[in-house]
Amino acid sequence: VATNETHERLRDFDELCRQQGFPLTVQRRTILEAVLERTDHPTADQVYEEVKERLPGVSRTTVYRVLQLLTRVGAITRIFTRGAAARFDPVVRRHHHFVCVRCDGLVDLWDEGIGELVRMPSNPPGSFEIEGFSVYFFGTCATCRATWEGAEGEPGAI
Ligand SMILES: [Zn+2]
Ligand SMILES: [Zn+2]
Repeated sequence: VATNETHERLRDFDELCRQQGFPLTVQRRTILEAVLERTDHPTADQVYEEVKERLPGVSRTTVYRVLQLLTRVGAITRIFTRGAAARFDPVVRRHHHFVCVRCDGLVDLWDEGIGELVRMPSNPPGSFEIEGFSVYFFGTCATCRATWEGAEGEPGAI
């Protein structure tokens, strides 16, 4: 079920497509909707699993390509994490993240104060142009910690 915010974002995207002159296809709209409805920062594979029933015949490659397009036009963002798979974020405004090092869980962190503490490097390498920054706090989520603590002391536990 699409929320009001999702509706608004989809409308913005329709408008963007019209302005940029690229066709708004059912595929693009459905894939964007799938990302907008999630808060767990899904990988392309996870998005594919979600839309494959709604879009019969869609391939992983297509989903990946559409996600890249959506990122390029700024409808969603791609986030940088430790895993090999790219993950996507429906939130395009700057925010930060908590990352669980055991399950790769990723939770949004809204705290303007963190941004104020970051000093931009005065001398980036070469002609590197900084576009932004984002802070990740690594640790263990409550679920993983509970599993971990429960396993402690048991013979054969890691
Ligand atoms: Zn975890
Ligand atoms: Zn996020």
